[in-house]
Amino acid sequence: MTDRPTNVAVLGATGSIGLNTLEVIAASEGRFRASVLTAHNNTKTLLEQAKSVKPDCIVVTDPQSSEKTDWSQLPDGVELLVGPEAVGSVVGGGEIDIVVSAIVGSAGLLGTWAALEAGKTVALANKESLVMGGPLVTRLARDNNARILPVDSEHSAVFQALQAGRREEVRRVVLTASGGPFRTHTTEQLREVTVEEALAHPTWQMGPKITVDSATLMNKALEIIEARWLFDLLPDQIGVVIHPQSIIHSMVEYIDGSIIAQLSPPDMKLPIQYALSWPGRYEGVAERLNWSEVLSLDFEPPDFERFGALGLGLEVARMGGTAGSVLNAANEAAVAAFLAGQLGFSDIVPVCRHILDKHDFDSDPGIEQLFELDRWARQEVSRWICN
Ligand code: NAD
Ligand code: MG
Repeated sequence: MTDRPTNVAVLGATGSIGLNTLEVIAASEGRFRASVLTAHNNTKTLLEQAKSVKPDCIVVTDPQSSEKTDWSQLPDGVELLVGPEAVGSVVGGGEIDIVVSAIVGSAGLLGTWAALEAGKTVALANKESLVMGGPLVTRLARDNNARILPVDSEHSAVFQALQAGRREEVRRVVLTASGGPFRTHTTEQLREVTVEEALAHPTWQMGPKITVDSATLMNKALEIIEARWLFDLLPDQIGVVIHPQSIIHSMVEYIDGSIIAQLSPPDMKLPIQYALSWPGRYEGVAERLNWSEVLSLDFEPPDFERFGALGLGLEVARMGGTAGSVLNAANEAAVAAFLAGQLGFSDIVPVCRHILDKHDFDSDPGIEQLFELDRWARQEVSRWICN
């Protein structure tokens, strides 16, 4: 054992999870050190982070953004690498102890994959890695003695609640969902939703893609699939309940009827910190519940009619194989099109359904096949929009 800080590679350092991770590290009193930072095109923020954190290395995955940046102020000793493949090459570095996988979308799978291949502990925010390639990713982790620790708040809650009993005593897992900004909207109102409205989440501050996913409830669909692979559950063991306050982050129900829940204010710093400090805990900077104020916790069943994404998530969790990769890519492309004003909010889920049904399903794909289908599904979304 050395008493050096635990070195953390932060993939997607300039995003919402990345910024929260750097806050957790800064407040860790030397327990952790950010040794690698990556960003796609926000080089201004990345340069500022490099100046304050002084990592060993930074990676810019978009070469054009790097070319346009004046790097003269990059501190001595900080190496600059450019291009998407650089993420894969740095995460295996011998000095790295934990890799925080917080790139958004299917682009995050590359870093998750390389880190697991190198036997690293991965603090996984990028749920898309498990949605796309759950069985392959978890097998890779097992084969390389690598560990995946959840950062997604629901999965962190389940992971914590699972410590209250034996695996064979688990009856089911209940994922909570805030319901998003349109929980009470009618189908007609959902058709009129604007980009601005979809980006205003009632309880969580997050990047734009996951914020839209939270509004369609596709985020919960992706989390059902994520939970299925991460905890090796049967799809029928995964339930969803709407809980608008986002205080209970998820629950595990045991065979005797006991339900163990994890509670805390909606603040990603806590699940991030727990993934870094596991199996231990320390005080940290996450927000606390204030028990001197009135606190109400409400629950209601989700509406599968108005929020068709949920059914899609359960179906894809049952199908496995290539279904996750197709759903994930179709959704990413559909969300990007919605944000660009090319697709209606209510069209996001039907587009995903159409492309999922159309694809050539394979129950046991390889990783290349998943990337190929990722490209195919995106093209199909473009085709749908042009027609
Ligand atoms: P974000 O959009 O705020 O940040 C994304 C980060 O990824 C940025 O650093 C960006 O530079 C980088 N990036 C974007 N495209 C890239 C590409 N093609 N190649 C390499 N890097 C790229 O996203 P976020 O909200 O921080 O979410 C990150 C991941 O964490 C997502 O998978 C999301 O589902 C998951 N997650 C986020 C939250 C949250 O509270 N924000 C909660 C749970 C899970
Ligand atoms: Mg979540």
